[in-house]
Amino acid sequence: MLRARTGLWGRVRDLERRTRPVHPETAAALARRWAELPDHVRTPAQTLGQHAVGCEGTHGVFPRCDLACTPCYHSRDANRVRVDGGHTRTEVREQMALLRRLRGPRAHAQLIGGEVTLLPPDDHAATLRLMIDQGREPMSMTHGDFDEEYLQRLALGPDGRRRFSRLSFAGHFDSLMFGRRGIERPPDEAALHPYRQAFVDRFRRLRAAHGVRFFLAHNMTITPKNMDQIPEVIRACRRMGFGMFSFQPAAFIGDDRRWHEDYREHTNDEVWARIEEGVGTRLPYQALHTGDLRCNRTTYGFFVGDDYFPVLDERRPEDLRVRDVFFRHLGGVNFSGTPVPLLLGKLLRVTARHPVVLTTALGWTARMLRRIGLRRLVRHREIRSVSFVLHSFMDAADVRPAWEAMERGEEAADPRIAVTQQRLRACSYAMAHPETGRLVPACVQHSVLDPGENAELRRLLPLTVRRSPARPVGA
Ligand code: SF4
Repeated sequence: MLRARTGLWGRVRDLERRTRPVHPETAAALARRWAELPDHVRTPAQTLGQHAVGCEGTHGVFPRCDLACTPCYHSRDANRVRVDGGHTRTEVREQMALLRRLRGPRAHAQLIGGEVTLLPPDDHAATLRLMIDQGREPMSMTHGDFDEEYLQRLALGPDGRRRFSRLSFAGHFDSLMFGRRGIERPPDEAALHPYRQAFVDRFRRLRAAHGVRFFLAHNMTITPKNMDQIPEVIRACRRMGFGMFSFQPAAFIGDDRRWHEDYREHTNDEVWARIEEGVGTRLPYQALHTGDLRCNRTTYGFFVGDDYFPVLDERRPEDLRVRDVFFRHLGGVNFSGTPVPLLLGKLLRVTARHPVVLTTALGWTARMLRRIGLRRLVRHREIRSVSFVLHSFMDAADVRPAWEAMERGEEAADPRIAVTQQRLRACSYAMAHPETGRLVPACVQHSVLDPGENAELRRLLPLTVRRSPARPVGA
């Protein structure tokens, strides 16, 4: 009898713990993040420190790639490093452990290097599992030129049972990449549409056959060459099944043999205007900031048919109130990584304590329904959540002196380098260095640290190894 009561009490306590709206470590990580941010980005719109700790990425794992991009952010040695599953697992385990310690129990992390699908599927799967075990929500970064069989072997174990309930991939597709099978030198962006569609369709078939859900982002590097094609890409691909379109204006980073144009011909405003042209509406990006607006712009929203509806618009005071209520009462809640029943429990507890959350959500829903219109909803019967992102890396020539001065504790006198320092201090995309216990901005990783790291990897993981009976070539 006593044991039964203890068991019941234990379950109640467990439920109470699991539906606690905010994990105490998340609260602490968010507070640390906010405290670390420079003043110029500590705005009411800032997601870092109020809802997120930022994005994370791996480095020094598998820098090799079998396509060629212009530009390519990898250093010259990247393609002389062997892809090695054991090395990748060891490095990722240590990097994720440091991120877990410094950035708390939940974050989005990119499994990124060269081409992720050069990893054998079992190693790829084991690495994703390592990331998940450290509370990361991993996204594999690929050029998308892999076979259906690879995806199946990644998603399903040797026993044929699924290893993941959901996979996230970012597919990089643009006409500045050369060597894709079937279209070695794409004449323009439109020629790649069948390849974009085929990429999504592989995941659809996987879901239909094995119930593995997916989230897919579409990444595209932008130079003066393909800038004017952005609207057409969005119009042609918005129904394909991508949940995010991310555009990266090219920067002078990495292998200078692959710099072929004046990448700085266009401003972020001009690229954003092309994205808006493709979506067919203004994309408000001031309601929510991710770090520094000179680095990132984001609009969250959804399509009903071909019409896009941003979730928040900074020109509407009622939307800004929604944002403020969200940050105040739900900012620390982990939405994407919590099973639905537990998430409902968390939301119930928040709304019981703060009824304003419910009234605000109802008000937002009513306004949005009015904006969409019942007729449109009935006609299309489908809401597709899609976000638009612009991420603008900085040039290595600016990042190196900015970082070196920061390491010496100096403020740069040169205004251009001073701006670079401001952006680095507000960086939203971190890479972990377990050997020093530090996180560095991805710009610093690619501009300053990658060349030395890849030269070292080239020695550690040479492409050719001496034949021996115990270890065949390439093993
Ligand atoms: S990686 Fe560079 S461009 Fe991106 S957020 Fe960090 S500092 Fe800004």
